[in-house]
Amino acid sequence: MSVFNCKCSICELRGLRNSLPLFLLFYTFLLYTEHSMKKSKDRKKLRLGVHISIAGGVSKSIERAAALNCNTLQIFSHNPRQWQVSPVPAEEAEQFAELRNKYDISPAYIHTSYLINLVSLTKTTLDRSIGLLASELEIADMLGAEYVVLHTGSVQGVDEKRARARAAESILKAIGSDRFRASLLLENTAGERGDITSSIKTLAEIIDRCRNGNIAGVCIDTCHAFAAGYDLTLNEGIEKLITEVKENIGLDGLKLIHLNDSKKPLGSGVDRHEHIGQGYIGIKGFRKILSDKRLSGVPLILETPKKAEDDDKRNLEKVSDMLSKL
Ligand SMILES: [Zn+2]
Ligand SMILES: [Zn+2]
Repeated sequence: MSVFNCKCSICELRGLRNSLPLFLLFYTFLLYTEHSMKKSKDRKKLRLGVHISIAGGVSKSIERAAALNCNTLQIFSHNPRQWQVSPVPAEEAEQFAELRNKYDISPAYIHTSYLINLVSLTKTTLDRSIGLLASELEIADMLGAEYVVLHTGSVQGVDEKRARARAAESILKAIGSDRFRASLLLENTAGERGDITSSIKTLAEIIDRCRNGNIAGVCIDTCHAFAAGYDLTLNEGIEKLITEVKENIGLDGLKLIHLNDSKKPLGSGVDRHEHIGQGYIGIKGFRKILSDKRLSGVPLILETPKKAEDDDKRNLEKVSDMLSKL
C-alpha cells in the first residue's frame, strides 16, 4: 500500500497540518473580499461631484463629470448672468439622460441663475425672476434633473420676515398650477447685506409658507454657513448647524451639501469660496464635517475656484482622500 493512501491517524493529522496554512490563506482571502465588497458598497452610496460647465451642450457636462470620477453633478441650465434662456434641444436632453444612466450620475442638480431675486422691490425684476425660476424648473424636467437649487434673493430696508413671506409668494407663483417633477432646494446664504436666508430657521420659515410648493428641503453650503457664523471648525458649531436642520427642516430634508472652504473668516458675512483645506474651515474642519454620521448619506458638490485646469481634480481628490481615511 502506498504511504500516500495511508489512512492511519498519524498520516491524517500530518495531512491536516500540511493543509492548515493553505486553509488560513483562503480564509483570510474570504475575509478580505467581504471587507472590500462592503467598503465599495459603502463608497457607492456616497455621491460626490462638482459644479460642471455645460459649454458645447448640456450633455457634455456628464462626460466631464465622468472624466472626473464624479457620480453626481450640478450645472447651470444656461448662462447664469443672462435672463435669456434658450430651450434645450430634445436630442441634447436625451443624450444627457442616456449618459447619466451610462455613468450612474445621480442626482443631477441645476443651480438657478444669479439674477433671480424673488424679493425684489422692482416689479420688472420680480416678474422676470418668477418667470426665470419657472423656466429653470421646466428645463430640469426636460433633462430629468431631480433638483433645482435656489437662493431666494435679497432686499434692504424691508422687514426680513415680510421679505421671506414675499419670497414664498414668488415661489408659489413660479410653480403656479404646473406640476414640476423636479423639486426645489433652498440654499443658505452667507449673511451679506440684505440677506434674508443665512440661518436654517429662516429657510424653514419660507419652506413652511410653501407647503404645496414642491420644495424638497435644503442645500447647505459650508462656506456660506461659516461666513454666516456657524463655526464648522468646532464640534459645537457643527452640532449647532445639524441640530437646527433636525429641528426646523428634518434631517431627511437635507438633500445636498455644497462643500466649499471659505476665503473669509468666521462670521464675515462675505461669500468667497476657497479650495478645500486652503481656507478658514481647513482640513480639520472638513474632517469633522465628513466624519459626522448624520451627514454621511448626503450628496456632496464642490463649488471651489476653477482657475487652473486641474483645480476640480485636486479638490475632489482631497475630499476622496479624507473620506477614505474616515
Ligand atoms: Zn453653494
Ligand atoms: Zn457662494
